[in-house]
Amino acid sequence: MSKSAKPVAAGVAEEIEECPRCGKPLPFCICDSIAPIDNRIELLILQHPQEQDRTLGTARLAAQQLTNATHKVGLSWPSLSKILGREVDPQQWAILYLGSAKVADLATDRDVVAIDRKGELEEHQRGILRDLEGVVLLDGTWSQAKALWWRNAWMLKCRRIILGPAKPSLYGKLRKEPRRDGLSTIEAAGMVLARLENRPEIETQLNATFQRMLTQYRDVQTTMPELAPKPKKRDYRRPENRRGKKYASS
Ligand SMILES: [Zn+2]
Repeated sequence: MSKSAKPVAAGVAEEIEECPRCGKPLPFCICDSIAPIDNRIELLILQHPQEQDRTLGTARLAAQQLTNATHKVGLSWPSLSKILGREVDPQQWAILYLGSAKVADLATDRDVVAIDRKGELEEHQRGILRDLEGVVLLDGTWSQAKALWWRNAWMLKCRRIILGPAKPSLYGKLRKEPRRDGLSTIEAAGMVLARLENRPEIETQLNATFQRMLTQYRDVQTTMPELAPKPKKRDYRRPENRRGKKYASS
């Protein structure tokens, strides 16, 4: 999330009604176009409380479209079972790992890879990935995701997977890379679930949702620029001047 974009956007956007489903201010909402996806492998998205980019965030959208998904906002939880409200074996769950391991450095042609604690390729890739019941994604900036990692010791008990996406995120220049692998939460969810379930359409459909969200965002940038400022542009004018001018011209 860009700091420079925040002050103007937050002030104006908060006065606008938000969608109860996706949490976005209504001009950004694309809920009507979301068709549910029945995923077999469960998805758990843990969102850092300070990740409040309502307009460009994708965690809620992903959890909304996937029928077998949970979205929680918080900093720490005692265990995976406590979050899910039932007993689960963390070894049957994988977390998208944040360390320095890169798929490109490993001897594999997969793009979803299970690694061990040393960051090396797990020997039984196929078996580990096949037996997974669920996947945990951390939603937030790089440092927010890291904070979640350090505050939740149970994550060490989960399997670790990393992604090596062939293409960069659809975010393009709208946002700085939210994760080390450069993908948005919804793109990461699509990639992981599509590979684990061997259903490419999961990724296609989630990416299509993300694309519609970005198209909607760019439309709002044109029609209501005060709601969707360009992230890198910094306005050094005094707030009162800026505000006056904005309202006069709109
Ligand atoms: Zn909505």
